[in-house]
Amino acid sequence: MALLYYTTMTDEYENLLKQAYSNITEKTESSERFIVPEAKAYVEGKTTVLENFSEIASKVRRDQEHLMKFLLGELGTSGKIDGNRAIFNGKFEITLIKMMIKSYVEDYVICSECGKPDTRLVKDDRVMLLRCDACGSHRPVRKRKARTEPVSENLEEGTIMDVEIQSTSKRGDGVVKMGRYIMYVANAKPGQKVKIKISRISGSIVFTERAEE
Ligand SMILES: [Zn+2]
Repeated sequence: MALLYYTTMTDEYENLLKQAYSNITEKTESSERFIVPEAKAYVEGKTTVLENFSEIASKVRRDQEHLMKFLLGELGTSGKIDGNRAIFNGKFEITLIKMMIKSYVEDYVICSECGKPDTRLVKDDRVMLLRCDACGSHRPVRKRKARTEPVSENLEEGTIMDVEIQSTSKRGDGVVKMGRYIMYVANAKPGQKVKIKISRISGSIVFTERAEE
């Protein structure tokens, strides 16, 4: 009798544990599991290699071809998928690639209603929709938007232009992504509109100074 009682207690305890554990995993799944791996990229000769391309695609649960097409379009270059890596023709800043992956996730992965990544891309007639399994909403996939400044084919040193800061670099400078270029503006915050003069261009990196209004 005593033994039986003990067994029951143990079962009960284990069930409780299981329950508690499944509650924890459920919570983790919906809120914390979604972390896009940091892009690992480097320049190799005349190309830029995104080393963990396939890992990123599988984490955001999107087709490799789809992600690749997006990146090539944003970088305005050609390239190929090579095993787990993606190779882009041209030398690109890693910051630029990171920003592009962030845009991809915002446009093609995250539900704009509930903010969750539990979504799928579905085709409705010819329109691509982002359907959310978490909240059931769906929206047309956002078109390339104003966040990307109009692409100037070739920027030139000395040019004066108005730009809107999009994000902040690790060093605290304002960052503007512009076609295949990435521009740094000192003492400027995201959303701020500033008039700048291009002081130096090095590959895809554009250094600026403030221009007088
Ligand atoms: Zn949703």
